[in-house]
Amino acid sequence: MFYPACDCCGADCTNPENEYYEFICDECEQNAAEAAYERHCEAFHDGGATQFKSLQQQQIEARRLK
Ligand SMILES: [Zn+2]
Repeated sequence: MFYPACDCCGADCTNPENEYYEFICDECEQNAAEAAYERHCEAFHDGGATQFKSLQQQQIEARRLK
C-alpha cells in the first residue's frame, strides 16, 4: 500500500486530499486546527491587534533560540 507524503511534515499520509488538494497527515491536521483555534481566540480577545503582538512574540522566541 502506497501512501503519499504529508505536504507538511513529509510523513506517510493516510488521509485523502483535503479541499486544497493537499495531503496532510492526522498529526499536522491536528496541529493546524489547534493553531487556527488559537489565532481565532487571540483575534477575538484583542480585536485584531495581534499582528504587533505576534511580531513581538517572534522576537522573544528568536532571542530564546540564541
Ligand atoms: Zn504531517
